[in-house]
Amino acid sequence: MLKRILTGDRPTGQLHIGHYFGALTDRVALQDKFETYVLIADVQALTDNFNHPEIVRQNVLEVALDNLAVGIDPTKSTFAIQSLIPEIAELTVFYSNLVTISRLQQNPTVKSEIKEKQLLFKNSVTYGFLGYPVSQAADITIFEADLVPVGADQLPQLEQTREIVRKFNQIYGLILKEPQARLSNFPRIKGLDGNKKMSKSLANAIYLADNPKVIQEKVMSAVTDPAKVRLRDKGRPEVCTAYDYHKMFSGDELRTITQECRAGNRGCVFCKEQLSQNINTKLAPIREKRQSFASQPKTVKEMLLSGTAKARSVAQKTMLRVKESMLLVYP
Ligand code: ATP
Ligand code: MG
Repeated sequence: MLKRILTGDRPTGQLHIGHYFGALTDRVALQDKFETYVLIADVQALTDNFNHPEIVRQNVLEVALDNLAVGIDPTKSTFAIQSLIPEIAELTVFYSNLVTISRLQQNPTVKSEIKEKQLLFKNSVTYGFLGYPVSQAADITIFEADLVPVGADQLPQLEQTREIVRKFNQIYGLILKEPQARLSNFPRIKGLDGNKKMSKSLANAIYLADNPKVIQEKVMSAVTDPAKVRLRDKGRPEVCTAYDYHKMFSGDELRTITQECRAGNRGCVFCKEQLSQNINTKLAPIREKRQSFASQPKTVKEMLLSGTAKARSVAQKTMLRVKESMLLVYP
């Protein structure tokens, strides 16, 4: 039997180059070797967008289009919409007894996200947001996933999932699978603003659907080495966000770029123009494929719903075993 993958995205906005190198390329390559489920996590997206359900609803389709555009093939992978699989919510409730509030508060990703969402949460975070790693544990384990390809920001959530599984197995005697995280070669791509993570929620991203003009404007705004002011100043690629992106998009040109920058033979404007072109060359076919899927919304919607139906039947089977082990099956 093929091993299983659970992966996915929150429909909080379109997907960007951080997702592409951090998660999507790996996801596409792995779909040939694993039974892959791609979860569009709309319930999780509502934990910090509860006051804007229209954003979440609209982005379910956008996120599906991005996945299709980069090569997720619905004949190989199964798309699933989280809210249409209520068994996940049910399992989340059971798991919520197996994790303490202080453990959730110590989760470093949750901690930094709460800080970033000061405007929304002020001094008191919601029960739903604090608990989202618990619902993520339910997402992963209800599909009995072996492997979860993620960006580095998700490692603490995977650790939390593994802890919940161990506790569950210890108490209820059911052997739930302990999933493994899998990182790509670019586990954490920085934002244009130099923030340590490019994120749809931080407005610091280059989206897969951005047109050449927008790409160029965004690249020009990327944070570079503050000590390099003139063309002849020697640069430090290690503190330059544009250089980080060159690593992903500029292939064989990288050596020359590095040497010229360090030697003071390269201006940042020229360097960024080259980068914009390379990004555009990579994104142009993805953009085209995306537009073609976008012109068939009915087909995409049907594909999402049929995938969800298949995924739900897998989830229902797991839930039956979970309930049996918890003495919750009544004749
Ligand atoms: P949000 O801010 O709404 O949480 P996000 O940009 O973090 O959005 P998610 O949908 O939460 O995107 O993440 C989808 C996947 O992409 C996850 O596996 C996550 O780890 C990965 N990912 C997201 N941003 C990056 C990044 N900047 N670098 C590498 N991987 C990333
Ligand atoms: Mg995220």
